[in-house]
Order: sequence, then structure tokens, then C-alpha cells
Amino acid sequence: MISKAESMTTLPETLAEKALRREAPTRTEAMAVLGGAEELLDVVAAGARVRRHFFGHRVKLNTIINMKSGLCPEDCSYCSQRLGSRTEILKYSWIPPEEAAEHADRAVRAGVKRVCLVASGRGPGDRDITRIENAIAAVKGAHPQVEICACLGLLTDGQAERLAAAGAHAYSHNLNTGEERYAGICSTHTFTDRVDTVRRAGAAGLSPCSGAIFGMGESDADIVDLAVALRELDPDSVPVNFLIPFDGTPLGNRWELTPERCLRILAVFRFFFPDVEVRLAGGREIHLRSLQPLALHLANSIFLGDYLTSEGQPGADDLRMIADAGFVVEGADEQTLPAARHDLVAIRRRGAGSDKPANA
Ligand code: SF4
Repeated sequence: MISKAESMTTLPETLAEKALRREAPTRTEAMAVLGGAEELLDVVAAGARVRRHFFGHRVKLNTIINMKSGLCPEDCSYCSQRLGSRTEILKYSWIPPEEAAEHADRAVRAGVKRVCLVASGRGPGDRDITRIENAIAAVKGAHPQVEICACLGLLTDGQAERLAAAGAHAYSHNLNTGEERYAGICSTHTFTDRVDTVRRAGAAGLSPCSGAIFGMGESDADIVDLAVALRELDPDSVPVNFLIPFDGTPLGNRWELTPERCLRILAVFRFFFPDVEVRLAGGREIHLRSLQPLALHLANSIFLGDYLTSEGQPGADDLRMIADAGFVVEGADEQTLPAARHDLVAIRRRGAGSDKPANA
């Protein structure tokens, strides 16, 4: 006979049930997960149930190509490319489209589905958009099926539309940290600027990608606030980064994350974004360490290869980790997001009444 205590539903089970119905946790529930009230493995198991329901055992692979590195006029405290950074990173101006295509080709052959074309800076000028248009053409010339995501900073009028017309699939712009804390992390642009760019991308028909960086002194309440703010933007993908504390940046000595903390954060994000691509991003190797495979039970997407300015785990090790943990690399012909997230009605933005050519 089951006792009353045994028949009671636990918080992780409740959160899994809600997530399967696409209901977000309450603040109190999310804070309890972050605060450690529940056993870690119970939390991971509940998040894993949600992840399996919407994404099976597939892991989507993404790669970053840093099109232009360093020398940014902005001052984001976490960033090795920031104004005044003393981090000894590679610094260079725009790489040519052919070089981007070469990097993309290697990554696609290793199983990558999405290529993220990233450039440092506050935002692109019109010539920069042309550079990205050319890079998209070069990458897609060899691999038409590859998803291209652009990540170029703050967008102004018409730029997202140009990227969409050039064949970009997504635009990535992280909120990084909550609105309350934003001014303490960056003084050269605002949280609202970032929200505006994510909205512009979505309005232009680009798949919105927006996520966070943790390990910058945020409280549990801050983490929940950010999850709520991101959910309001309804992104298709949510990168979860863990701070890479670069020497030569203001946050260079911050090592506050533990593997358990990272897993609890990832679980909360899975509960807030049950059917969204939760992407395990920068810092996974140094903060999750030997618990990286457990994170695959929560995130359904990772970066393969290196990050913007730091090196990642060797790709072969990532592929082995995925296989060892019982997962499979998502194929090019497999749909990442569940069908319910795909809007079958595409608003016409070409042909009559627009400045773009018609479809036929
Ligand atoms: S995050 Fe982007 S905008 Fe901020 S300093 Fe780094 S490259 Fe510049």
C-alpha cells in the first residue's frame, strides 16, 4: 500500500507535468529548484522527461564563426572583445566569405546543422550587412540546407529584413542578464536596446535566438526574472552560457559556478522553455566539468568546436560524449522544434507592395 507521503507529487514532477503542457513554473517553484530544496538528480530527471518528450534523444550541433574579432567600442563586462579588454585574444577585421565558407564546410561535415556568423561591435553598418549577405551566399552555395544564424549586435531599420532576404534563418542577440542588473554589466547600451533587436529580428521573419550568461553575481531571483523576460520574447532558441572569466576583463576573477548550480539553472530553463531549443553554450566545459553529460539530459543543443575567442572541447570528444550518454546527433533532415512551434502561415514580405522580388 502506498503511504500518503509516497503518493504526493514532488516539485520536480509537478514542474515536468506543467512543462509538458507548456506552462511556466511560478517564481516560487523556480526559486525552490535553484535554491537546492530538491535533490539534484530528481530535478535533472524531471527536466530530462520534458526534453525527451519534445526532442527525443537528438542533440543539435551548432558552430560559431567569428567573422570579426575584438576591438569593440562597447563595454560589456564579461566580454574579451570589449573596449579596453586586456585579454590577449585574436583580433582581426572581417574574414572573407570564402574563409567563412571553408570553416562552415568543415563543421557541416562534422554534423553541424546551424552556422552562427558572429561579429563584434555595437551593431552592423550597411556594408557589414553586405559582408554577411556575401558570407551567407558562400556558405549556402556549398550547403544549401544549413541554417544560418547572424549575430551582429543591435539592428537598425531594414537590416533584419536584408538578412532574411539573404537567406539567414535566425538572428541571435542575448539578453545576457536581467533588466535590473544590466547597467552594472554594460554602460554603452541598455537591456531595452537588446529587447528591441530581438523583436526586430522576429518581426522580419528571422527565428529569434536569445539567451543568457550566468555566473556574473546574479541571485536566484535574478535568474528567474531573466527567464520570465526571455519567455515574453518567445524565442525559438535560448543559449545558456556560463561565464568564461577572461583575464583582462572586469569579471576575470569570477569563478562562482559549480556543476550543480549549472545543472539547476539548465533545468529551470528547460521548465521555462519546454519546447524551445535550449542550447548549452559557452563555459560548459570549465563549469560543468565531469557533469557535462548530465547537461545533455536538459539541453537539446550544443556548440561544436570553439567559441568566439576561447577554445572549446575537441569536437571528437563532444561527439563521443553524446554517443556515450545515449544521445544521437540531429540530422540535417530532422526538424529541431516540435511541429506546434512552427507557424505554417508565413506573412508575405516579398513581391507586390514590397521592395523585394516576387516568389515566381
Ligand atoms: S558582447 Fe558584443 S557588444 Fe558587448 S563588448 Fe562583446 S562584442 Fe562588443
